[in-house]
Amino acid sequence: MTDIFNLSGRVAVVTGANTGIGQAIAIALANAGASIVAVGRSSMDETESAVRAAGAGFHVIKADLGSIEPVKNIVAETISTFGKLDILVNNAGIIRRADSIDFTEEDWDAVMDVNLKTTFFLSQAAARHMLERGGGKIINIASLLSFQGGIRIPSYTASKSGLAGLTRLLACEWAAKGINVNAIAPGYFVTNNTTALREDPERSAGILSRIPAGRWGTPAELGGAAVFLASQASDYVHGTVLPVDGGWLAR
Ligand code: NAP
Repeated sequence: MTDIFNLSGRVAVVTGANTGIGQAIAIALANAGASIVAVGRSSMDETESAVRAAGAGFHVIKADLGSIEPVKNIVAETISTFGKLDILVNNAGIIRRADSIDFTEEDWDAVMDVNLKTTFFLSQAAARHMLERGGGKIINIASLLSFQGGIRIPSYTASKSGLAGLTRLLACEWAAKGINVNAIAPGYFVTNNTTALREDPERSAGILSRIPAGRWGTPAELGGAAVFLASQASDYVHGTVLPVDGGWLAR
């Protein structure tokens, strides 16, 4: 049974793998046997140590995902390093907070570019390779804001709701061709992304009181869902957005 979760011999690209959720997912995939290509703009040293400690292959690609310019190279360099690309985790993402009445075009575009536009064009570039090879796995990191409205984060909610739709659309186009496109919707996790919320006593208490599990999530707790969606265990799972949220959406 455990063999269906084994990722030995697979090659995974993880964007934003230097910290938080991306780092935890890279380590989880490495522990399941995958070689990791860590893509991002910050030092990957910490991630590299953990991935190599798991005995997995590791390669860094420096890229700013605020534009789609690096996407072709990310796929080409992955193939030239490890010979192929089996798993793409679109994790890199940003959030900008302001009342909608004051929200700027800059804050709209920056979030949409990283969270949605680059995710689509990197998925397209990866899928061109995966289709030639007969399949692959694409995992998008969505959000509770793929299901709910939220407040003061209009571009984030638009991008993550869009990402849920994009996940379903790409699944419809590529499922029969051997590519599984799915998403994980993390609830409230302790990362840089949520520092502002955790530092606001009122918001923090409000959030905590609504989480059935009674606590924030830790990034490592997303590893199991990522390994599942990257592995043979999910071969008939297409277009789903899987909440890992301490029960938030069940409330
Ligand atoms: P994080 O610690 O802020 O991580 C965000 C990652 O994205 C970092 O690696 C960051 O790199 C990278 N990134 C942002 N802009 C980039 C750019 N232009 N080019 C390259 N890399 C870029 O927060 P996180 O919580 O782990 O976020 C990871 C994903 O989970 C995001 O998509 C986020 O929306 C999603 N998410 C988080 C939560 C949560 O509770 N934490 C909940 C739902 C969804 P730098 O470190 O270099 O900025």
